[in-house]
Amino acid sequence: MADKKSWGLGSKLRGMFSRTFVLSDDTWDDLEATLLAADFGPDVTDQLIDSVRASVAKVPPIDEEDFVRLLREVLEERLSRFDTTLNLKDRPAVVLVVGVNGVGKTTTIGKLAKFITTAGRSVVLGAADTFRAAAVDQLGTWAERAGVQMVRPQQEGQDPSSVAYQTVEFAVANDIDVAIVDTAGRLQTKSGLMDELSKIRRVIEKQSPIAEVLLVLDATTGQNGLVQAEAFLEHAGVTGLVLTKLDGSAKGGFVLAVQERTGIPVKLVGSGEGIGDLSGFSPVAFAAALVE
Ligand code: GDP
Ligand code: MG
Repeated sequence: MADKKSWGLGSKLRGMFSRTFVLSDDTWDDLEATLLAADFGPDVTDQLIDSVRASVAKVPPIDEEDFVRLLREVLEERLSRFDTTLNLKDRPAVVLVVGVNGVGKTTTIGKLAKFITTAGRSVVLGAADTFRAAAVDQLGTWAERAGVQMVRPQQEGQDPSSVAYQTVEFAVANDIDVAIVDTAGRLQTKSGLMDELSKIRRVIEKQSPIAEVLLVLDATTGQNGLVQAEAFLEHAGVTGLVLTKLDGSAKGGFVLAVQERTGIPVKLVGSGEGIGDLSGFSPVAFAAALVE
């Protein structure tokens, strides 16, 4: 994460000040513009500025680094209000991955499989996006890269919930720690898709509780992407968010905005197309990277 922070605000923040460090009305206007441009959204931006003003009033900063530190501490505090740990305690821990087309679900699953096996736990993937053979093959390629097994549909167009069921069944029978199920992002109708996701959940829960329902969001689409994902937030029982494509985005503030708007913690962050480009979400590291 630390080496791909095109979303870091550091140069902008430091560029707000001339050679002599003085806080003026311009400083606050510049800070507001910077935060808005980074997609924190108007409400969070206002609140952040109020918090920084309060910190400044308590202990006036002596130079720009000091000022940036105050902002970092405010960000850290806000980001830490959520429990961002991925819950993989159940055995098997079933993770259902949902979200609109193209946001990076399948890619995230590939990276997550690697992430979990690197931590010494076993993984099986379930290819429950059964509408296109290509989608199954894409997940298959990731399974190979990550060195994990995959349960695939026996024929094209097989009921996604039956693939999900078989995936969990496979995990139980083979004593596998984590089962990650890929899903489709689009159907003819939105209600059709939500019905399908409910069915997948019901069918899985006949065997095992679902540990996480992860909603994947593309950070480059910012607040728009959130609007597109509304149906998932309402109907899919989402327990955690994954933000992808932070490498191609100047919108690091979206991470905080999205967490506060949905009330759901960001649990994973994707920062590239490579298998290693996924990290867990650490508020402290993220706040530091934001102001770097
Ligand atoms: P899905 O339709 O939600 O399953 O999305 P895919 O996993 O197929 O990804 C769609 C596109 O986004 C692919 O070209 C991926 O390589 C790309 N992608 C996914 N995650 C990231 C990321 O974190 N960074 C970048 N730059 N591209 C990503
Ligand atoms: Mg996919």
